[in-house]
Amino acid sequence: MKNTKSIFEMIVDREIDAKIVYEDDLVISIEDINPVAPYHFLIIPKEKISTLNDLNNSHKELLNRIFEVARNIAKEFNFDQKGYRTIFNCNEYGGQTVYHIHLHLISGRKLGWPPG
Ligand code: AMP
Repeated sequence: MKNTKSIFEMIVDREIDAKIVYEDDLVISIEDINPVAPYHFLIIPKEKISTLNDLNNSHKELLNRIFEVARNIAKEFNFDQKGYRTIFNCNEYGGQTVYHIHLHLISGRKLGWPPG
């Protein structure tokens, strides 16, 4: 899997289109192609990290950046006060489908709990 480009690397490299809402040296953020709520963004590291299990202490700055970007997008789209949910899915039981970690940032309606 390491040598195969993920769909998100292709977006970073502009090989496929996406609605990009933010980009810097470490991350890119896009609108999810299949939104589950009125607001559904993905915050994606440019470095391909397959699952949460592959994170280590060298990723502290990256993780900090991912959540900083999530907070900033929530403010920019004005749902920071109403609220939102952030999710990293991991592997089969977590429902992960793209093996390049990404934080889901979801809002715009009251979300149910517990997840299905
Ligand atoms: P997960 O199931 O947690 O791995 O999430 C993968 C997410 O990526 C899903 O919510 C998909 O809708 C989304 N997705 C897959 N391909 C694209 C794409 N080309 N552009 C934007 N979002 C995508």
